[in-house]
Amino acid sequence: MSIKVLIFAEQKEGKLSNSSFELISAAKKIGGEIITTCLGENVDGITRDLANRGGGKVLAITNPALRYFNDDIYAKVLSSLISKYQPQIVLGAATFYGKALFARLAAICNGAMASDVTGIRLEGNNVTITRPTYGGNVIVDLAATGERPFIITVRPKIFEESRDGSGEVISESIDSALFVSKASVKEMVVESGQSINLTEADIIVTAGRGIRGPENLQLVQGLADSLGAALGASRAIVDAGWISYSQQIGQTGKTVNPKLYVAVGISGAIQHLVGMQTSKTIVAINRDKDAPIFNIATYGIVGDLFEMVPALTAKFQASK
Ligand SMILES: Cc1cc2nc3c(=O)[nH]c(=O)nc-3n(C[C@H](O)[C@H](O)[C@H](O)COP(=O)(O)OP(=O)(O)OC[C@H]3O[C@@H](n4cnc5c(N)ncnc54)[C@H](O)[C@@H]3O)c2cc1C
Repeated sequence: MSIKVLIFAEQKEGKLSNSSFELISAAKKIGGEIITTCLGENVDGITRDLANRGGGKVLAITNPALRYFNDDIYAKVLSSLISKYQPQIVLGAATFYGKALFARLAAICNGAMASDVTGIRLEGNNVTITRPTYGGNVIVDLAATGERPFIITVRPKIFEESRDGSGEVISESIDSALFVSKASVKEMVVESGQSINLTEADIIVTAGRGIRGPENLQLVQGLADSLGAALGASRAIVDAGWISYSQQIGQTGKTVNPKLYVAVGISGAIQHLVGMQTSKTIVAINRDKDAPIFNIATYGIVGDLFEMVPALTAKFQASK
């Protein structure tokens, strides 16, 4: 059976997310025909990039209504493309936008849904995915059988980015009625401060309640800066109002998968671990040698963060 995979490539303000190229790698692994969709107010410059990096048939969909992400409009447009091209597999990234969009999309096109997928492979005629469930305590393999499209969001940074390949850009025309929504996004306000996107960061340094107060955040920010890392947070310090929710990692925050994760003054509650335990290397700094974070840490530093963090920061700065 020939498999057809349709990818939703995420872009923001005309810049493609790295996860778009990771999805192309995931699709290559499945094999078969690749169709990549790119929606926006103007996507001319970036669709070529998708084609040159293995996006296959790249469908460029432009309309002023696509300027800002609106999951209602985006889902209707993608659903019409699913009806037209009849892919068996639809791939998106398990990002803030991707999660909202794909749940809606699965409902509209009566698809089988699997979110936050960490593995994907073809077994016989069926695509089988791997995903964590029950707060990351159970890893399941799932296969969708039957005629329904399999709607999948893939955890960012699981697959390497596709670097090469071939493709062609096609300007797709869409029924104008699909660009109408009861809700509209008037403007997008970018939060100041964090310049590195947490879900795409290779290195993340995260602060927990062990830092004692918001005045000590700059200590952890200093370590993050010395490593070129993004700054994350446990829910404890978000709830305390010391840092913005957009930086929370865990069950009710973001799921991340960096190459290096440094947890500073974080106990390692299960709700935190589910958002970061697939990180490649985990370093934990905690003065309590029995803290649960050490159960999953690659390297553990038992000590006072107020001594360890400045010492590490100085070392990393000196080695630059
Ligand atoms: C439904 C639900 C959803 C949740 N979602 C999330 C979520 O998304 N993300 C999340 O993070 N949490 C979440 N939580 C909360 C979670 O259960 C924990 O309460 C929280 O993660 C604890 O944060 P913490 O590790 O910063 O604080 P604590 O548990 O208080 O740990 C602080 C740690 O700092 C160490 N420490 C103290 N002083 C020092 C020092 N001087 N030097 C070194 N170490 C020191 C302590 O030994 C301790 O281990 C959720 C909870 C629920 C019920």
